[in-house]
Amino acid sequence: MKAQLKDIVSKSILTPGVGQLDDFSHSLNPYAGCTFACSYCYVRQLPISLYREEEWGTWVDIKTNAAELLRQDLLKARKKGPVTIFMASSTDPYQPLEHETKLTRSLLEVMLDVPPDFLHVQTRSPLVKRDIDLLKKFGDKVRVSMTIETDKEDIRKAFAPTAPPIPARMKALKEIREAGITTQASISPLLPCSREFPQRLRPIANRVTIDDFWLGDGSGGKRTERLGIYEIYKQTGMEKWYNPTAHKVVLNMMREQIGDEVEVMLSKDGFTPVDQARKPAIGENLKFF
Ligand code: SF4
Repeated sequence: MKAQLKDIVSKSILTPGVGQLDDFSHSLNPYAGCTFACSYCYVRQLPISLYREEEWGTWVDIKTNAAELLRQDLLKARKKGPVTIFMASSTDPYQPLEHETKLTRSLLEVMLDVPPDFLHVQTRSPLVKRDIDLLKKFGDKVRVSMTIETDKEDIRKAFAPTAPPIPARMKALKEIREAGITTQASISPLLPCSREFPQRLRPIANRVTIDDFWLGDGSGGKRTERLGIYEIYKQTGMEKWYNPTAHKVVLNMMREQIGDEVEVMLSKDGFTPVDQARKPAIGENLKFF
């Protein structure tokens, strides 16, 4: 289906960090809407989607004045204290139309001119590697976090059929790491995965962060329940994974197998600016494989 794209003039671009993102001073969303259309996307349950006639995943508003606004907002915000930015919280900054608009790229250019204290880039798109040249210039003030919610392509296809394939995401993250940029693999939301997952992440991520529907959807899992995601677990024969304890199994597996080399974080602690990161509690040994 062809997405409905609309140019809009936005009133503001930096949003104060709240809720799960309250360790950041601001969030930054170049677009409203997202054509990756993941079945479990928590934004489906937010007013931006609920009060819109079109279905989530079929529309995108392009904030055409985002770069201009960002420059103004950054200059103002920097006078008030440290500026730590999470890009993006309710859209993917590297969804397909970014190929043409280069809007996210223009925001990186502004942030190199008027630097924030820290920038966390959250995406599930290999397109982010296009901007390695700019991201490198942020030095240790940037983290590129690639969502890799499973290492199993059949599972990815069941839950997020229009999102980029997992191997392409892993390859992009590897290139970004090899360029000297700090990388994170965000297993978020955790989906059924294989025992080989930790070793697949070892060479591509400085840090792995695990989050799930119960810890991370902002409502203790209720939003996800309303989306009917359990049906997809049933269809794929993975019901036992729809469980608030599954993350502990994968957390343990990651720590045991790659914890010597890769920082392994849990939920909100893995989505903080660098100096605020805290160590996660050790999980329990349960049987999921
Ligand atoms: S990429 Fe992120 S914002 Fe886009 S649909 Fe998926 S979960 Fe939602």
